[in-house]
Amino acid sequence: MNITFYSLGAAEEVTGSRHVLEIDGKSYLVDCGAFQGSRAEADRKNRNFGIESDHIEAAILTHGHLDHCGLFPLLTKGGYRGNIYATPASRDIASLIMMDSANIQAHDAIYLRKQAQKRGEKFDWTPLYTEKDAIQATSQMVGISYNRPVFIGDGVNLEFFDAGHILGSAMAFITVKKDGKECRILCSGDLGRNDKPIIRNPDTKLPAPDYIVLESTYGDRRHDNNDDAMEKLAAIAKQTVKNKGRILIPAFAIERTQELVYYFHMLVDEGIIPEIPIYVDSPMATNATTIFQVHPECYDEEIKKAFIEHHKNPFGFNSLHFTTSVDESKALNDHPGPLIIISADGMCEAGRITHHLANGIGDPNTTILTVGYMAQNTLGRRIRNKETDLKIHGQWFKRRAAVEEINAFSAHADYFEATEWLNALDTSHLKKILLVHGEPKAQAAFKKYLADHGYPQAEIVHYGKTYDFNE
Ligand SMILES: [Zn+2]
Repeated sequence: MNITFYSLGAAEEVTGSRHVLEIDGKSYLVDCGAFQGSRAEADRKNRNFGIESDHIEAAILTHGHLDHCGLFPLLTKGGYRGNIYATPASRDIASLIMMDSANIQAHDAIYLRKQAQKRGEKFDWTPLYTEKDAIQATSQMVGISYNRPVFIGDGVNLEFFDAGHILGSAMAFITVKKDGKECRILCSGDLGRNDKPIIRNPDTKLPAPDYIVLESTYGDRRHDNNDDAMEKLAAIAKQTVKNKGRILIPAFAIERTQELVYYFHMLVDEGIIPEIPIYVDSPMATNATTIFQVHPECYDEEIKKAFIEHHKNPFGFNSLHFTTSVDESKALNDHPGPLIIISADGMCEAGRITHHLANGIGDPNTTILTVGYMAQNTLGRRIRNKETDLKIHGQWFKRRAAVEEINAFSAHADYFEATEWLNALDTSHLKKILLVHGEPKAQAAFKKYLADHGYPQAEIVHYGKTYDFNE
């Protein structure tokens, strides 16, 4: 039995997760995610994604985020015809994400061609993959529910455990049994947090792993925990009812939007806030919400008690509306307050939220509520920093709208939470922790923290370097 490991993405960075286990000469791929960053860098890195399709015995998807599933269509385009194992919910979310990515690329190609023609330049850019490739990737996905171990190769067993990150997210537990020997490898995927709405906590009742491949996004940060999301949402909503204003919430289409809908539904049900019209104005979020509705097997006890046991749909109630057409979206400009609009994208760089911001940013009765990570140099970050002069669609606006922030929504464990999770596992056999999916600074801090708290075996994974799992 000979097992080695290497990473061709999310090594000393946070996107493009692609990890490979070599087991007796056969390759098992864990995630095939896209690198996300500036257009030119992303294009270069994703085109040279490093995975040779014909060398893969089987592939595994931990969850449906683009940086974990986004290059599976490239893998199948390259000729891979084997299985891609995923939970049923991850398969559905990944399908939506991969199709959306193909669609964006097709539109980019048209736009870039026009730009090049205007400048009289030659144009030879082609999309990485098309909708056809995305559909092919989806057709190769095999749904495996949590805690249903299956053999995915000779002597190689896979079992998914709850990761508590997004709907369907899983840790991949791989057990290799050969020649009377056994090796157990746990790939955390993106590790979530306890007490997130809708989904269950990261599982701790796992067999004792020999090796853990662990994400480290927040290796140097602690989340704000004293921030009660429900209370703050209620306070903002009440104020908005009073001044007949509107709340604009830029949010990612998957998970964050459904969490917000779920919280508002609870607040209305408990009579804490009155019924205010809530519009989810994002076709992607609308589609994603449908996926949430058909996967109650991923729900935690709380949502089951509050809704399912009463035959109620947590993602549908009287005052909640989903808009799909552009006309419906535009009509919201004239909708009288009070009103709540949840729209993408989460960092206000594109999408319908930019139109709602342009329309409402000058109104003192509007509140812009930020609920997620805002990268540097994005409009979302400038809003969160409460800047008053803001450029939207190339035009300057004076902000008179209020800005509020809720930080309780993060989907990744911070270093303390990740260590608590480790402490709850049976680590009696643990030989190595390999840190992936983190910026170098966060990883260095996390490695040190782990060493100081009983885990001296943590190492930072370097791109392309091979790690031996045979000791
Ligand atoms: Zn993720």
